[in-house]
Amino acid sequence: MTKTSDLIRLSRGDVGSLELEALARVIEAGYLGMSVEVQAFEKELTDYIGDNRHVVCVNTGTSALHLAVQACGIGSGDEVLVPSLTFVASFQAVSATGAKPIACEINPATCFIDVNDAEKRITPRTKAIMPVHYASNFDGIEKVYELAAKHNLRVIEDAAHSFGGTYKRKRMGAIGDILCFSFDGIKNITCGEGGAVVTGDAIIAEKVRDARLLGVEKDTEKRFSGQRSWDFDVTEQGWRYHMSDLMAALGRTQLKRFPEFAKKRQEIAKLYQQFFGQYSEIRTLKINYENVVPHLFPIIVEKGRRDDLREILEENEIQNGTHYKPNHLLTKYKTDYALPYAEDFYNKVITLPLHTLLTEEQVEKVCKVIAQWVKNGCQKAA
Ligand SMILES: *Cc1c(COP(=O)(O)O)cnc(C)c1O
Repeated sequence: MTKTSDLIRLSRGDVGSLELEALARVIEAGYLGMSVEVQAFEKELTDYIGDNRHVVCVNTGTSALHLAVQACGIGSGDEVLVPSLTFVASFQAVSATGAKPIACEINPATCFIDVNDAEKRITPRTKAIMPVHYASNFDGIEKVYELAAKHNLRVIEDAAHSFGGTYKRKRMGAIGDILCFSFDGIKNITCGEGGAVVTGDAIIAEKVRDARLLGVEKDTEKRFSGQRSWDFDVTEQGWRYHMSDLMAALGRTQLKRFPEFAKKRQEIAKLYQQFFGQYSEIRTLKINYENVVPHLFPIIVEKGRRDDLREILEENEIQNGTHYKPNHLLTKYKTDYALPYAEDFYNKVITLPLHTLLTEEQVEKVCKVIAQWVKNGCQKAA
């Protein structure tokens, strides 16, 4: 059995005494639901992102995506373009509205949605495109907005990986139609679970605000001023998707600590990128880590050697992952067409440990183990 102390974990949240204090503050206040902490967190996120954006916090990143799609008026009979290489959350968020997620190809250099492929899949039913910031990368987003403008589509960016990134010298979230963040246990900042919808569109923000509280109109404002709605109206389908004050208190602390988290994640990714750059047997994505706060670090292992390397990593107690099985290979989202780049990537990818609690020695060990494997001709030593 692996001792947990030796195990190098793939990902983990970084929480400690400051988060405990924050939780204690809410418990002492005695109100655990959605109130002043969520209000403060939304304000702090708005200030952090800049440009006066509307920020609406919810209980998961998946809920954020679901409510964003719903707020665009998308539902049964509609279609949304989504890259197949993403967490199943993106697909489920679309299908939750009754709309159909249409699996699209990726650009193999960046893993961003291939807009040429996406354009081929547009029909009169297509209402939106959902680019995914895979591994925190968003290189290719301009082309998505060009396509959206040409075909009159909404853009809902799945930015679950890319909190804290910089785009056109602004913070991720400051530019774009609608962006959704995740604050789940292992994302760039965590609320335990959590998510947020960020937009410049006041109508969309209002719809998301109502829909997160069972469609009760203007309930958010009441709760933020310590009241409840007793006499209210409901006109739309809503959900219990709001964020709690406990979650927001965690998130506020994480946001304060984020500069330190971002630096650490960027350092590790740059180190990996540079280190693996010397090997032709291993490819990394074309990502500029000056502008990106990386959530994942994928490597692409050529020549069918991926599973062999995975075994070596596991023998060395280095946790690793496969992000992601393309959604068009899942029974629910099966397509009658192939997506060769997404499938090829799936067969070659390994994601390496990346989180803020990794030690220098642990990162060195990951590099050393892989270097030794390459030196052995991409196989276990005889
Ligand atoms: C984490 C994640 C989500 C969903 O976020 P949750 O907060 O876990 O619901 C959506 N898309 C991608 C790409 C993710 O990694």
